[in-house]
Amino acid sequence: MDKKVVLITGASRGIGASIAKKMASLGYNVVLNYVQSEEKATALKEDLEKKYSIQVLTVKADVSNEDEIKNMVDLVIQQFGHIDCLVNNAGIAIDSLVEEKTVSDFQHILNVNLIGTFLVSREVAKSMLKEKSGCIINISSTNGIDTMYPYSLDYDASKAGVISLTKNLAKEYAPFIHVNSIAPGWVNTEMNKELDADYIKEEEENILLHRFGEPEEIANVVAFLASEDASYINGSVIRVDGGSK
Ligand code: NAP
Repeated sequence: MDKKVVLITGASRGIGASIAKKMASLGYNVVLNYVQSEEKATALKEDLEKKYSIQVLTVKADVSNEDEIKNMVDLVIQQFGHIDCLVNNAGIAIDSLVEEKTVSDFQHILNVNLIGTFLVSREVAKSMLKEKSGCIINISSTNGIDTMYPYSLDYDASKAGVISLTKNLAKEYAPFIHVNSIAPGWVNTEMNKELDADYIKEEEENILLHRFGEPEEIANVVAFLASEDASYINGSVIRVDGGSK
């Protein structure tokens, strides 16, 4: 039987790279999307192909660019014939004072985090609907639920939008495609590399487990949602945040 295929956006580093490693370890053929980090994506491809007997395809495409996304999905279908699971993980954040936020930065964040999630889902769903099966997992954020960080109000709005999109797409594609969202809390990746030590300590005190999460702890939940064990979960948002006080 054909191996299952997972397409992960923003898979060159951080949470996306961990998801790729986890899915490869489960025997999926993996598509690694990235926009800039070609070397990292290529190194990850080589590593995964060496460790597991799977095929890995790297595709440079900006999730907010309609033509690039159409081309990426065509390429994947050409190579593998089908996509069983899509993980919309690519995301960006620009923390800044509210009065200094520019409309173009705000739009850029919405374009990547929210419109990007919509675009890739719409294109991949065409092929999933033909197969009458598939799963889409959208990486949102607890910021999209709690919205407690004015410095990232644009990011938070985009992640709230991803949750809304998840529920609407689950409805639109039922019963064939399962669409769910994961809302991580703080996770140790480059996205948080600018945070100062005192701020991290303060934030850790608000987490029941007193620590930031690791990318692998998000990847484990992706693997569960993509599996048969999650067959009755649809249109849901799962918090993976160590418990908030
Ligand atoms: P990260 O380390 O900064 O990695 C971001 C990834 O997204 C990179 O692979 C990057 O590719 C890719 N990317 C950025 N813009 C893109 C675009 N326009 N098109 C395609 N790919 C693009 O971030 P992370 O922490 O792993 O975050 C992954 C996801 O989890 C994001 O959606 C983020 O919002 C969410 N999340 C993160 C945290 C956290 O605390 N880290 C918490 C909650 C939710 P290049 O390397 O090629 O630039």
